[in-house]
Amino acid sequence: MTPQSALSAVAPSTVVEVARSAFDRGVTRSLAWRERQLRALKKLLEERSAELEDALFRDLGKNPAESQLTEIGVVEAEIEHILGHLRSWLRPRRVAVPLALAPASASTLLEPLGVVLVIAPWNYPVQLLLAPVAGALAAGNAVVLKPSELAPATSALLAELVPLYLDPRAVAVVEGGVEETTELLEQRFDHIFYTGNGTVGRIVMTAAAKHLTPVTLELGGKSPVYVDDTVDLAAAARRIAWGKFMNAGQTCVAPDYLLATAEVADALVPHLADAVAELYEGDPRSSSSYGRIVNDRQFGRLDGLLDGELVVAGGTREPGTRYFAPTVLDHVARDSAVMQQEIFGPILPIVRVADLDDAIALIRAGEKPLALYAFTSSKTTAKRILTETSSGAVGFGVPVAHLTVPGLPFGGVGESGMGAYHGRLSIETFSHRKAVLSKRLAPDTLKLVYPPFTPAKDGLI
Ligand code: NAD
Repeated sequence: MTPQSALSAVAPSTVVEVARSAFDRGVTRSLAWRERQLRALKKLLEERSAELEDALFRDLGKNPAESQLTEIGVVEAEIEHILGHLRSWLRPRRVAVPLALAPASASTLLEPLGVVLVIAPWNYPVQLLLAPVAGALAAGNAVVLKPSELAPATSALLAELVPLYLDPRAVAVVEGGVEETTELLEQRFDHIFYTGNGTVGRIVMTAAAKHLTPVTLELGGKSPVYVDDTVDLAAAARRIAWGKFMNAGQTCVAPDYLLATAEVADALVPHLADAVAELYEGDPRSSSSYGRIVNDRQFGRLDGLLDGELVVAGGTREPGTRYFAPTVLDHVARDSAVMQQEIFGPILPIVRVADLDDAIALIRAGEKPLALYAFTSSKTTAKRILTETSSGAVGFGVPVAHLTVPGLPFGGVGESGMGAYHGRLSIETFSHRKAVLSKRLAPDTLKLVYPPFTPAKDGLI
């Protein structure tokens, strides 16, 4: 029996019990164990990279180079970054003690939480499962991984590989969909890290509340991109098309819709069409650099979003192969269907605005997005965008790339999520920062504050 078949035979409650027992026995606590797990995870990514690329191609038609860049490489860089700093991040932090308490010393100490559940979505099924897992392991936790059933090849492969590389006493994969996840969520965890849509985010948070389990929710939303006339529009169009159409638009931080004045929109549209042609060798359908829509359900939803819209670039689709061309819509009404939901596909609607005030008002009227992008060389515009809007992150001149900076927190705000991770923030997320105060018994300087509270003491306190 392989480690995987041994695992899949057991109920979620048993998986969690086994992981908890390992945690309680201290298996996961030492720095050496944590570093070993991180190195083993890196080895998995290196040695099995061809298999991972193949699974990602089968699930999403991802080009192997894109898989390296946006999935495997991101997790490798995250592991490298954590390994390089973990020892110093884990050092206790001394804090000042008020004079009235002196002599004494105070510090904070990071302690692992226990058993962490990581639930991942299908769109970046390697990165969004393994990057949080790296943080949870580095923080000294036992981890249960729940890959997305909608990326079945990647889910099956990771369920097979994880037990071969990581410590099976403390790390387990549970595959499955709603039923299995519901059963998992009935168990008591010490932290739940969920990436996916907000509807399920609410289900996760409700289940967590029952056990008072803290959650990190990495959700989505409509991330706007604002372009003004102070920038090179051809260069901006290339960056926007790259961020929007990678993984066929199925990226949580992809620009969702574009805001521009009529003059900018008129000039930008041909540049967007040129950029698509340049990125996908003249024909995205035959280009191996362009992905496919994950399933028929998503394809049908995206197809419906084109109803009644003005297509100014792309628009071709093939239900059989789930090819959906990079598509640009112009003159999109603010109350249109495509502006009422997260698009999560290769459709870029342009909403024409009167000016920056109008753009900011439109952004503020919606839920807080996961990311907000702006292409402007005006410092005043940039400052207004930063201070007058709220979003998980802001990217000036480049979409998506902020999530590859290990020192930046990655997370949403409001409807786009709560909590953040990556690098040091992952360690904080998956740890408890314990306060420690230490004071010698003698001399007893606290005598002053002990009762009885006599008039003589009143004057001293
Ligand atoms: P999904 O359908 O794969 O669901 C995510 C996970 O939730 C899966 O593991 C699935 O099994 C589980 N799940 C589904 N229904 C459930 C239920 N009823 N009860 C318990 N668990 C359930 O992925 P998705 O939600 O379609 O992913 C797309 C969404 O995720 C988009 O909104 C996108 O913006 C967001 N997203 C956010 C980030 C981020 O980092 N913030 C990254 C990627 C995707």
